[in-house]
Amino acid sequence: MSEIKQTETVIIGAGVAGLALSCLMAKNKKDFITLEAHSLPGGCASFFQRDSYMFDVGATTLTGFFQQGPLQTFYQRCGLDHSLLQPVTSGITVSPDGISQLQQTANLQQWISDQANFYTQIHQQHLAQLWIKIDQLNTLAWQAIDQFQYYPPYHLSDYLKLFTEKIFLKLKLAPLLLQSFSHYFAKELKPILAADARYAHLIEELMLIASQNTPEKTPALLGVMSLRYPKDLWYHRGGMGGFSRHIFSHTLKMKGQVKLNEKVLNIRQKNNGFEVITHRHHYHCQKIVSSIPIWNTQKLAPTLFATGYTQKVNKLKAKWGAVTGYYLLNFKDSGPERLYHQLHLKKPLRYCGSRSLFFSLCSVNDQIRGLENPQQRTLTVSTHIDLDEFYQIYPSQKSITDLKKTWDQEMKEAIQQYFQAQLIEVINYGIGDPMTFEKYTSRHQGTVGGIPHELMSFLGQTPGFQTGVKNFYQIGDTTLPGQGVVSVITGALNLYDRVLGKAAKTF
Ligand SMILES: Cc1cc2nc3c(=O)[nH]c(=O)nc-3n(C[C@H](O)[C@H](O)[C@H](O)COP(=O)(O)OP(=O)(O)OC[C@H]3O[C@@H](n4cnc5c(N)ncnc54)[C@H](O)[C@@H]3O)c2cc1C
Repeated sequence: MSEIKQTETVIIGAGVAGLALSCLMAKNKKDFITLEAHSLPGGCASFFQRDSYMFDVGATTLTGFFQQGPLQTFYQRCGLDHSLLQPVTSGITVSPDGISQLQQTANLQQWISDQANFYTQIHQQHLAQLWIKIDQLNTLAWQAIDQFQYYPPYHLSDYLKLFTEKIFLKLKLAPLLLQSFSHYFAKELKPILAADARYAHLIEELMLIASQNTPEKTPALLGVMSLRYPKDLWYHRGGMGGFSRHIFSHTLKMKGQVKLNEKVLNIRQKNNGFEVITHRHHYHCQKIVSSIPIWNTQKLAPTLFATGYTQKVNKLKAKWGAVTGYYLLNFKDSGPERLYHQLHLKKPLRYCGSRSLFFSLCSVNDQIRGLENPQQRTLTVSTHIDLDEFYQIYPSQKSITDLKKTWDQEMKEAIQQYFQAQLIEVINYGIGDPMTFEKYTSRHQGTVGGIPHELMSFLGQTPGFQTGVKNFYQIGDTTLPGQGVVSVITGALNLYDRVLGKAAKTF
């Protein structure tokens, strides 16, 4: 074993959360080393290359670049390149029957009238009442997050601030934290559901994608944010892989140290600091920020954390894994302009937990994807799978290969039915399951998408930055309630501002 390397802070993991924090640290010339197990940066927002083609592995959509939005702030502070981004004004195309196409965009009127044309039994005025209220509250929620420095909550006093801070009082947001979406919007939903009960399914599927939970359990504040998610949508050149690689290379350019292929195996307290052990080196540091899921962190340092904290972590259950499909599509012409599509199926894919498939096409002529002509497009398909069920059914299956063949077949049928005559050929480049995610991101049992948003999640259910060990912090999507990439970047920004950017102050 080589000599022990010294650094002030070790960041574990270079998914979006770890990358964002590394970039901020490099920009501010902090002494740190980031250690990433995989050979590529990005974690769940990474990519893989087969033949010449590049496929996004998991996350595909970006939000938060509006004026003073978290990603806008992050880009400005780090000097990242906005020109690699383009707005996706077509938003998300929602297909409640797997064929029809409703446009969920920033243009609220279009979204309302598209819905009224599909759900002909529902009065357009009732849809307007519901969605105008959702849209207004969504705007207020982002305004509050922009002005509220205590997210994710860190101390008990931070939780209290959610109810006492001026901005929350002024915007009257407290009831949206304490009531579920279904409860809060009961009055608006009643005539709609009475006219067409299928509408409940639309809301459920839309909400599951961003909140990982049902309208009955999701707090109204997170519910409105997940339903108006497509209001501000962006595509990065090269897709999500392009986004992660841009932050990674920018961090290296600013002399930040991010080491790939270096998995952290163990952490222990030593000489008033920590010793971090990988299969290559030993590092000694004063501070640790773990950006890997909380269950993984706990396993790296089983004796470090107090019993109470360990019990709290074990109690938190992440329900979902993902099943994904990666395809190369050949269209007759350049194919659809719209990139993101949510299809609602009559029944879920075999053993999967959601009845919707999310299709993400790459942009036309995205050179970075390695496409040979404008007719070719890459497609990432994803859906939810209940992990308890997966690990129950999987051992009784003949092999995971058979299961993947079934999923491929079902996905191909949905792709062909949806794109119909525009499509010439569908070629599969791989199917991902929870074990694939565990292999490439090390996430415990392949849990993805964070912790489902529960009503009480604002009141201490999620752990926030704190591990209970002095100078040992955590960020990432299992530490806060929120929506994927935008929330883990918000978490990284707030940890930097509240703790790491303040040289002398420690908690
Ligand atoms: C199928 C799917 C679709 C999604 N779609 C979207 C979307 O469209 N938009 C959106 O905003 N969000 C989406 N999400 C959620 C989003 O991708 C994640 O919430 C986010 O990327 C999590 O980032 P993270 O940094 O917290 O964790 P991770 O991405 O898990 O990153 C953690 C990193 O740590 C590394 N690591 C783990 N253990 C170790 C170790 N011991 N030593 C060193 N390194 C280690 C991993 O390799 C990984 O790179 C999606 C997720 C999935 C799975």
